[in-house]
Amino acid sequence: MVGEPQDDCLFCKIVAGQIPADVVQETETTVAFRDINPQAPTHILVIPKVHHRDAAALAAAEPGIAADILREAGQVAAEEKLDSYRIVFNTGSGAGQTVFHAHAHLLGGRGMQWPPG
Ligand code: 5GP
Ligand code: ZN
Repeated sequence: MVGEPQDDCLFCKIVAGQIPADVVQETETTVAFRDINPQAPTHILVIPKVHHRDAAALAAAEPGIAADILREAGQVAAEEKLDSYRIVFNTGSGAGQTVFHAHAHLLGGRGMQWPPG
């Protein structure tokens, strides 16, 4: 069923507690944890507990949870005392997506370039 946990999905395993993660905040619908390979002083992933392959698929199927991701990213940014930050949803392998369970990257704590690489 759409949204159900996938046996071969790393982030479903983190949601289930089968793989440890440095969790900074958890809600009924989301988990926020530190990226294992940080690209900025603060690099936190905010993921839905339900499985969807990317952010657009999540928003199409469960728009309320897509909104939860953005709200949570903002709350975690505030807790990390970031006044400027970037929220990134890599979508598709050509854009750098490697885990096909929707997730927001919350990046901050250093200057950011535009356009992104
Ligand atoms: P993507 O490349 O799909 O946009 O982002 C996946 C992110 O997950 C990468 O930034 C990668 O460093 C992170 N990641 C991969 N495996 C693990 C893991 O086991 N634990 C944590 N905390 N992050 C992971
Ligand atoms: Zn998953």
